[in-house]
Amino acid sequence: MRIGGFLPTTLLDYPEKLACTVFTCGCNFRCPFCQNGSLVLGTHYDLSGSPDTTVSENAGTNAASVFSMASNDDQGVDILEHIKKRKNILEGVCITGGEPTLQKDLSDFLRKVKNLGLLVKLDTNGSRPDIVKALYQEDLIDYVAMDIKSSKEGYSAVSGIAGLPIAAIEESVEFLMHSGIAYEFRTTLVKGLHTHADMESIATWLKGAEKYYLQSYEDSDLILCKLMSSSSPGSMTHTTSLKITDSRNTPFHVDFTLETFSTEELQQFLQIAQTSIPSAVLRGVEMPAS
Ligand code: SF4
Repeated sequence: MRIGGFLPTTLLDYPEKLACTVFTCGCNFRCPFCQNGSLVLGTHYDLSGSPDTTVSENAGTNAASVFSMASNDDQGVDILEHIKKRKNILEGVCITGGEPTLQKDLSDFLRKVKNLGLLVKLDTNGSRPDIVKALYQEDLIDYVAMDIKSSKEGYSAVSGIAGLPIAAIEESVEFLMHSGIAYEFRTTLVKGLHTHADMESIATWLKGAEKYYLQSYEDSDLILCKLMSSSSPGSMTHTTSLKITDSRNTPFHVDFTLETFSTEELQQFLQIAQTSIPSAVLRGVEMPAS
């Protein structure tokens, strides 16, 4: 396991459970707004500078509680020891990334976690449905949180992967909605990447989903497109040109501007989502007092 970070205790990452969170390195997507850019690029959290900027709010983490780990292939052993010591106070383990299903020994790791009597929540981008199905069939996962990056038409631009095979994403959605496993879908909304038409398309696609969360993009100096470009950090409006590679390995650039939607704009997206998914909610967004 290539592990880039560990949060010993969280009440936010696993719904209604006291859990710890394991952050794996590497991802097969390049979402420009990704808050875990250093993990995606295969490195680890760097807490030597300002801890407040090192942790993904999307992951529901507490910066002060995360410690960094050098990335190598045997970190799973150390983390398991740590989890073992805390197994009597923990209810579950969240495994997030990066994209955890890329880890070749993920099932071995989760088997050991399950043998400690703990629940497992998997965060995934849904690109590897066969892995998720195999983990479920072996009873190694109890809850799955899957990102829905955009409408099917918009998936390549938002995931940063030209020619992304949407069939794999569709297969993951189908599996989660019909397998009986506890799950949630979630979309991080970014002004500049998402439109009302995308939301209408997503809502139709996910009709009948049990849980669907809309989250707001938040700017930080560590979002992936800033790490991959030379733009100045700290700007709330970030325009960049991201080099991505199509299925023929031909690099090309996509220009976009990342901004945060206002609360009113997020509520408009929510209303669209709720036309097909009544249970859809905004997560992590402060609503104005009525
Ligand atoms: S799928 Fe998740 S971890 Fe990977 S780049 Fe996108 S937001 Fe980051």
